[in-house]
Amino acid sequence: MSFENILGQDRPKQTLNKALRSGRIPNAYLFHGQKSVGKKFTAIEVGKALNCKTLGPVNSCDKCASCIKIEKRIHPDLFIIEPKKSSPTSREAILKIDEVRELQKKLLYLPYEGKTKVAIINNAECMNPQAANSFLKTLEEPPSKTLIILIASNLYQLLPTVVSRCQGIRFHPLPTQAIKTIIRNHLESEGSETQPEEIELRSRRSMGQVVCALGTDLLEILNEREELIRLVSLVSFKRMDQVFPWTKAKSKQTEHIQLILDELTRILRDTVLIKIDPETSAVINTDLTKQLKKLSLQKSTPALLKMFETVQVTKVAIKLNANSQLALENMLISFCEAA
Ligand SMILES: [Zn+2]
Repeated sequence: MSFENILGQDRPKQTLNKALRSGRIPNAYLFHGQKSVGKKFTAIEVGKALNCKTLGPVNSCDKCASCIKIEKRIHPDLFIIEPKKSSPTSREAILKIDEVRELQKKLLYLPYEGKTKVAIINNAECMNPQAANSFLKTLEEPPSKTLIILIASNLYQLLPTVVSRCQGIRFHPLPTQAIKTIIRNHLESEGSETQPEEIELRSRRSMGQVVCALGTDLLEILNEREELIRLVSLVSFKRMDQVFPWTKAKSKQTEHIQLILDELTRILRDTVLIKIDPETSAVINTDLTKQLKKLSLQKSTPALLKMFETVQVTKVAIKLNANSQLALENMLISFCEAA
């Protein structure tokens, strides 16, 4: 396996390396841990190692026909299934039984050109109950020359019977240095200039998740932060006329509303941390420390915690299709009650 391609995740790499070297590979792995920390990437690398024509099955060369086909996802013995939305307006993506059955059929045959078939089920927790029960049969009677890799960010949504039939490998948030390397490589590949301040800020905001570190909306959202600090600082029943226009403006930005509320969450988090320890090094918005310190002096810890909780409730309500303006207004009223 090209271990050098996988950044961070030392423990999962160690476990997989040991299994590949000893040849004692289970029928099914369950890679679990928060989103966007390299689970699917690692699964693909395992698939490459098991089928590499020059270094397999303990490592991969990234150069042979097999490695190249797996990298391009065109290898006939690599199967990846992922949840899909049934229509563009559907709220949730689901892995349906038809997809699982189709995969089960393919797994009945011997490898077509490689040594081991590799079936990756991404976001396995999105299998509906029928699909999960059907897949359980494959786990109970594993097909020959096949490695199944289930990937899940929420272990508790999977059937316990599915979990118990896989060898679990836990993935952790990526360490800061790995995230910084990924950001630098990404910015360079896009031809963008790599400013150390931007890399630092992106890595702090990512919480160890690649997708957050590389988000393209960074500048747009950064501009929101000072307005959000002002909003939290101003909010009170006496000044509703000054804060209510904000709800009207933001409720129209339907695509950004969750990002704005995530930003508000980070600001409240930072403020609470500064309130507890003004010298804390855990602040995400380090460039706004001065403003955050000022805000922390204006609000009590219980008020800030109550606001934090209210933002989470608002996020869920809007996700569940609540009227955005009404939900944001309710949020500000709760802020006033907390303040
Ligand atoms: Zn190879």
